[in-house]
Amino acid sequence: MPTASRHTAIRLGLLAAVLANAGSTFAEQTVSPDTAQQLDQGIARVESKVVAWRRDIHQNPELSGQEIRTSKLVADHLRKLGMKVTTGVGGHGVVGLLEGGLPGKVVALRADMDALPVQEATGLPFASKAIAKHMGKDSPVMHACGHDAHTAILMGVAEVLAGMKAQIPGTIKFIFQPAEEGFSEMPSSADAQRGAQAMVTDGVMENPKVDAVFGLHVAPVIPSGVIGWRSGPILASADTVRITVEGKQTHGAAPWLGVDPIVTSAQIVSALQTVVSRSLDITKEPAVFSIGSINGGSRENIVPDSVEMLGTLRTFNEEMRTGAKERITRIAQSTATANGAKAEVSFGPSSYGVTSNDETLTEAMLPALKEAANGKIMQVPKAAGAEDFSEYQQVAPGVFFILGVKPEDRPVGPPHSPTFDLDESSFPVGMRSLAMVALTYLENN
Ligand SMILES: [Zn+2]
Ligand SMILES: [Zn+2]
Repeated sequence: MPTASRHTAIRLGLLAAVLANAGSTFAEQTVSPDTAQQLDQGIARVESKVVAWRRDIHQNPELSGQEIRTSKLVADHLRKLGMKVTTGVGGHGVVGLLEGGLPGKVVALRADMDALPVQEATGLPFASKAIAKHMGKDSPVMHACGHDAHTAILMGVAEVLAGMKAQIPGTIKFIFQPAEEGFSEMPSSADAQRGAQAMVTDGVMENPKVDAVFGLHVAPVIPSGVIGWRSGPILASADTVRITVEGKQTHGAAPWLGVDPIVTSAQIVSALQTVVSRSLDITKEPAVFSIGSINGGSRENIVPDSVEMLGTLRTFNEEMRTGAKERITRIAQSTATANGAKAEVSFGPSSYGVTSNDETLTEAMLPALKEAANGKIMQVPKAAGAEDFSEYQQVAPGVFFILGVKPEDRPVGPPHSPTFDLDESSFPVGMRSLAMVALTYLENN
């Protein structure tokens, strides 16, 4: 900024001062020193159990919608803690209700339980050798997204907070969610539900009604024990886009006798590039649209009947998401019509809303996150990945944050890769962060 004026500098200085002051009004809003000490003692007691649970779940991973063993492990544990437990919520979802000894609001903490069709190559002594059906075929299964850690951490939090039940002002709902990653078998209908959406439809956010919801995801790019946070949109919406172009089959030497869906599809793919570049206000939020698969035809001299394309749409704003879907539909259909063909456009079955953190709630929870991570927090950029935690945020204000799990001593692969792994010594910070945001919310509302 070559022409930054002195006035601007002064204004920025004032703004910084105002922000610093605003921060200090929240600085006290975390748990009492007594509560913090009890939390730490509880976490120290369960830490080795949490590691053992994580390894057990890691060695016995289950694909989305198949989480029978994992949900039983969770339900048995919650029952032993004396919680009211509901199973079979939105599939294999488990909900534990911890009613505190004092009246207050209702907070939900969420962990996801499913694994991925990935062949593990970590060489860990507890590496997975599991095989399960994915889209009808035998497939290796691996916890390559860290949901084993999410589940084990939340089981640990449940045990620690159950031990503090008498002094908790309100209710804590523990949500163990299946099928975050998608479907492992093709659903029978385009509007089939799974994961968070299915749990919400089954009433997970009601009886008692949830006032605020929190969840975390591990990240192997952030140093172990550091917490990443962001106010507003943090993860993108994601919609699978399916476009079927119907033409009319003919000999490749006489295309005038048919309608060519391949040339039509080529025009559609080009025209769709204008959705983001020409019709979305990208000064508001970024967006991405990619066609990742295009299939049609069988040989060089036949103009085929049809072509099918698959793509993904990512946005950080629900209005932009709706606008982009309309535009994609219109462009595909009109371009097909102009060629004498027909295009059918559908979205799903995989569909995620924008994961957007409530700004007031995020600000109010920052001191708790900071304390949980011993001051080691960082603001993270938006990422175009998606999470169905967004489904809960559409019902109640929520904050989704990141737990750094990058080991210091060895490289690990990225999420969804065969060499994905994490540093288990981050688990106490993970437990503290979830427990602290829950108690901070309940003690201050
Ligand atoms: Zn994942
Ligand atoms: Zn994940």
